[in-house]
Amino acid sequence: IDAPGLDKETLLEKDRQYVWHHISPHNPNPMIITSGEGSWITDIDGQRYFDGMSGLWCVNVGHGREAIADAAAAQMKTLAYYPLMQSHLPAIQLSEKVNEWLGGGFRIFYSNSGSDANEVAFKIARQYHHQNGEPSRYKFISRHRAYHGNSMGALGATGQAQRKLKYEPLSTGFQHIAPPYCYRCPFGKNDKSCHMECAQAYDDVINWEGAESVAGIILEPVITGGGVLVPPQEYLASVREICDKHGVLMIVDEVICGFGRSGKRFGHQNFGVKPDIVTMAKGITSAYSPLSATAVREELYEKFTGSGADSHFRHVNTFGGNPVSCAVALKNLEILEDERLVERAAALGEALRRKLEVLEEHPNVGDIRSFGFIAGIEMVEDKESKIPASAGKVMQVIAECKKRGLLIGKNGDTVPGFNNILTLSPPFVTTDEELDFIVNTLVEAFATLA
Ligand code: PMP
Repeated sequence: IDAPGLDKETLLEKDRQYVWHHISPHNPNPMIITSGEGSWITDIDGQRYFDGMSGLWCVNVGHGREAIADAAAAQMKTLAYYPLMQSHLPAIQLSEKVNEWLGGGFRIFYSNSGSDANEVAFKIARQYHHQNGEPSRYKFISRHRAYHGNSMGALGATGQAQRKLKYEPLSTGFQHIAPPYCYRCPFGKNDKSCHMECAQAYDDVINWEGAESVAGIILEPVITGGGVLVPPQEYLASVREICDKHGVLMIVDEVICGFGRSGKRFGHQNFGVKPDIVTMAKGITSAYSPLSATAVREELYEKFTGSGADSHFRHVNTFGGNPVSCAVALKNLEILEDERLVERAAALGEALRRKLEVLEEHPNVGDIRSFGFIAGIEMVEDKESKIPASAGKVMQVIAECKKRGLLIGKNGDTVPGFNNILTLSPPFVTTDEELDFIVNTLVEAFATLA
């Protein structure tokens, strides 16, 4: 950009002066991204990068979709805003569509972010139990390593280290159990000795806490940001059974897995379970506009339809479900359907998993995991000890990829020393050549480790 005041150095200076970056507030040299097209973004120097994380696991239909921009502009010109105490066309149409994607039977409540959607889920679950004659149920069970958002309740549910920083007390009533992490089984089991102790752990904790105090559990179908932890195939069905046995609601966080990322429309559909509440964000608009949703089973919703104000869900969200975001979401879902991108994500994920096998022999590669079009590469110091790779090695691979024009991710910092899992979550429009580019670049980056 060669207009006065818009040169890189001036912008960086202003950035250092005014912008508070997420996670790394003092990053003195952020990339300044100026445009995006398909699976690529371009920075202010004109350097192109393959967006191997779809931004933050969200730009699923790829960058630069004019049809989405047009849908947003058209909706802004017709009706930019009205709150959802009343209704409007895009919200009605989107609710019908999301319900169809879920397989039917859900009522949709809109907010702006994944954290919001989870807060709404917790509040609905607690109020549901009140109205169902069990007001003592207020606790939620979550898992270590899981991320569910940054607000006090969602952070309460989160099982990562940042909850222990200076934000306590968080919302109380959240218990954490060990995650299904087959590479480092918290129960010391292996393929042969596994009896899905990780699922049984729900039963144990519910019994310890007393089922009459437990409102629900929250889980992602596969823990994504916490390290791509893929559970045994029967895990979710087993958890569903345990929830039913104890009258506990099953909340499935589809913020990342939803809308095709898992290779099916929703992650839980890979495991044949029907949740009570489904939360979603990111992929609902492919991040073209902020929107999230909490889908609640009709049987639960019915408890909120009584005539007294006391039975209503007293939760307003000014921007939630605004017409522009809903119109954007509708266009995004239309693109996913018309271009058969969910099926494409499944095929791409399968191909990526196969291609990544070339890395298996590398001494610093401990485990390669995938779910739909998500992959995780767990780096270790050596395969025998499984000691997590040093931050230096992990950052080197990331930097070497970036040098070659590939942006990849890393699991959120969970337990100190376990910050060693590279992540990939590319746009669904990735081509076969681009898949090769990803894998070849990773091979070259790993080759630089002495
Ligand atoms: N749940 C999951 C599984 C997430 O990955 C995230 C965000 N990365 C959230 C919830 C929170 O979403 P948001 O950042 O939109 O609040």
